[in-house]
Amino acid sequence: MTLAELQRLLSGLPLPAMLVRHDDQILAVNAPGRALLGEEVVGRHPAMAVRTPSVLEAISTVARAGGVQEARMTLRREGQEAVFQVTVSEQGGITLCIFRDVTEEERAGEMRRDFVANVSHELRTPLTALMGFIETLKHAAKDDPKAREMFLSIMEAEAGRMNRLVRDLLHLSRVEAEERVRPKEAVELRGLLEGVISSLAGMADRVDLSGDPVTLPGDRDQLVQVFTNLVENALKYGAAGQVVRVSLTPEETVRGPAVRVEVADEGEGIDPVHLPRLTERFYRVESHRSRVMGGTGLGLAIVKHIVSRHRGWLRVESVVGEGSRFSVVLPLG
Ligand code: ADP
Repeated sequence: MTLAELQRLLSGLPLPAMLVRHDDQILAVNAPGRALLGEEVVGRHPAMAVRTPSVLEAISTVARAGGVQEARMTLRREGQEAVFQVTVSEQGGITLCIFRDVTEEERAGEMRRDFVANVSHELRTPLTALMGFIETLKHAAKDDPKAREMFLSIMEAEAGRMNRLVRDLLHLSRVEAEERVRPKEAVELRGLLEGVISSLAGMADRVDLSGDPVTLPGDRDQLVQVFTNLVENALKYGAAGQVVRVSLTPEETVRGPAVRVEVADEGEGIDPVHLPRLTERFYRVESHRSRVMGGTGLGLAIVKHIVSRHRGWLRVESVVGEGSRFSVVLPLG
């Protein structure tokens, strides 16, 4: 094949690719390859294009002994680290290097591993407590009705925690699976909020609702979940005896008319350093407090996914010592 033919062939490859003669001269680079390695690399030594020693080593090995070598290359692009899997192979006396961007793949893998580790940890804590109490009930507390009563109620609480965790995990995975499907039901929001508030066991009189009825396309059950989570958090983390204010106000956004629902409490507030991470799964400002309150650390992650499915957004403002305000903006059209 002539060089022109090789170049044509290379230009048909969707991934960044370069051809090297022996191990000392770059013969051709396709357009994605030039974007990755630089415009002026043809004719130069591979080390001018690639700075990762393991890739250069793979190129020399293949030039010397043929075969296929794999290497990993990391570089910084637009301030972010990118990871490439480089396949180096011998093709009729020429070395072909193909670069595959595996940054997202690796990040997704890492997130999955973190998630599994977190879930296991969250489940193991109540499970360990349950197993300990079962053991005590079988032996030490066997004939002590008072202790038995106490241990059983702790066990009930721990089983309840596991149950809530599994419920929230299932919600999260369902919401994620549906995230790209636009909700279509016509939902009247004021009535929905009244329902949410009246279903708060014994707490309804601590919530003040204001604003006019407004109808929007939505998923009723999921919106109930969003506002239940937000109002429950405001009550949980708010000051004792305070009133939580929920308000509905029309809002004009760049994307058209929308409605803003604010849930405001007068609790201790949240330090600004935590705000960007609040909607991460299992992120808690004070893990002990959240656990005592029966929190799973998944509530706001669920809220974020549902709001994004509704093409809306969530904003959190908070002043330490004064309180927090969670606003959900939902488009009307
Ligand atoms: P949890 O189940 O722990 O309540 P969430 O995802 O609902 O989990 O909330 C994450 C964390 O955000 C909570 O653990 C808490 O630290 C903080 N948080 C949420 N809402 C409020 C609020 N209204 N005031 C203060 N902190 C809050």
